[in-house]
Amino acid sequence: MQIAQNVVASFDYVLTGADGEVIDKSEPGQPLPYLHGAGNIIPGLEAELEGKTVGDELTAVIEPKLAYGERNEQMVQQVPKAAFQGVEDLEVGMRFTAESNAGPVPVVITAVEGDTITVDGNHPLAGQTLTFQVKVTEVREASKEEIEHGHVHNGSCDH
Ligand code: ZN
Repeated sequence: MQIAQNVVASFDYVLTGADGEVIDKSEPGQPLPYLHGAGNIIPGLEAELEGKTVGDELTAVIEPKLAYGERNEQMVQQVPKAAFQGVEDLEVGMRFTAESNAGPVPVVITAVEGDTITVDGNHPLAGQTLTFQVKVTEVREASKEEIEHGHVHNGSCDH
């Protein structure tokens, strides 16, 4: 059976960034399951996995536009400290959820200069070319419920 629309596939992976450092990987014996064609994983990787089957191994190099997008400098903003009501000791690296016209956006503090706080709403992997080393470990038909929900159920559905 090959990976195609409405198929659940699981894979082991190692994700490395442009400079070769490991960003993320699956734990041994704990492959990542996803519903193919439902946008559960980044588009570039989904495209590379199309047609693959159990045991296939591949190295996929994914450009930013098919991964987490290009960086958008308009999502880097300076806000007054007063915007962080009730939060003391603001530090670089702290994460918040900001309200925007497009709904809540996760942001990270990238600079603290006096009363001016710089926040970045870009995805941490935006602008990066990503390399996935992947091994497909399981391919099966999705259930009707999984297709309706657009995601994988592993034994239970708790929503
Ligand atoms: Zn569900």
